[in-house]
Amino acid sequence: MIQQTLVLVKPDGVKRGLIGEIISRFEKRGLKIVGIKMVQVDPDFSKKHYSAHVAKSFYKNLEKFITSGPVVAMAIEGIDAVEVVRKIVGSTEPKSAPVGTIRGDFAHVSLNYADSKGKSAENLIHASGNKEEAEQEVSLWFSIDELHSYKLSYEDHVM
Ligand code: ATP
Ligand code: MG
Repeated sequence: MIQQTLVLVKPDGVKRGLIGEIISRFEKRGLKIVGIKMVQVDPDFSKKHYSAHVAKSFYKNLEKFITSGPVVAMAIEGIDAVEVVRKIVGSTEPKSAPVGTIRGDFAHVSLNYADSKGKSAENLIHASGNKEEAEQEVSLWFSIDELHSYKLSYEDHVM
């Protein structure tokens, strides 16, 4: 099934100059970027995006992190894109993320260590966790006219 999913290069990824590196990993896998923009998230929007986490103990640090600088938001399309993108991203905690994933290649902080410093674990990237979350997040971040339909030149070979 062709799906769209939301990816954010979080403020740490932007400030570390990893936007291009991160985008290229999705492009090389043959996934299609159908929407892209740079956004400064404010606390109200953070609460909408992370509505599932607002009541959790780590939310305060998470909001501080996600509002600490601009993010690059992308809608990414492909076959079972939600699952494929999550695999490219790696697990939440950089310390545990497999080498070869974005979080496993560019960070190593543990959730415990970040917690002890009063910080959110800076894990470079957000990706929608499941199909329902993806549909809701793509429509939260992108209007219909910001999403584009086109054919990749190599679509006949990788899709
Ligand atoms: P994301 O939603 O950002 O892609 P995720 O789906 O892997 O990450 P979630 O469980 O949705 O993880 O948590 C959202 C974010 O909150 C994580 O990316 C991380 O920055 C932070 N976070 C999650 N769990 C913890 C925790 N136990 N302690 C501190 N921060 C956490
Ligand atoms: Mg999540």
